[in-house]
Amino acid sequence: LSERNTVQKQIILDVLKSFNTHPSVDELYAEIFKVHPSISKATIYRNVKQLADKGEILQLAVPNDVSRYDGCTDFHHHFVCDSCGGVFDVHADCIDATKEVFSLIQNKHGFKVDRSMTSFFGACSTCAESS
Ligand SMILES: [Zn+2]
Ligand SMILES: [Zn+2]
Repeated sequence: LSERNTVQKQIILDVLKSFNTHPSVDELYAEIFKVHPSISKATIYRNVKQLADKGEILQLAVPNDVSRYDGCTDFHHHFVCDSCGGVFDVHADCIDATKEVFSLIQNKHGFKVDRSMTSFFGACSTCAESS
């Protein structure tokens, strides 16, 4: 049984990493079902929770939405589009700016910040263009 669990967990992890849209369990299930119809939604729920607890994936806190998961655990932020509900990665210069905030917080409060997960909200490039 434990070997089967390991295989299932790896399948779920691989499928999650193939997304760049931060899928919910429903979206993961739909994708996994195409290739592995024997894996139940309950199994996926259980495994993503375990993977998130172990820090192998990220669970994103998106207000007023179901939990979404991220296979990329590198330090990055997210942008949530109010119009289409898309969740996009924010990388590059925005990350350096956040690290400056870490120092500001340490100087002001003495807290040693080692990570953060920030969500920005607004209209994604596609929705901004069509409005
Ligand atoms: Zn959008
Ligand atoms: Zn992400």
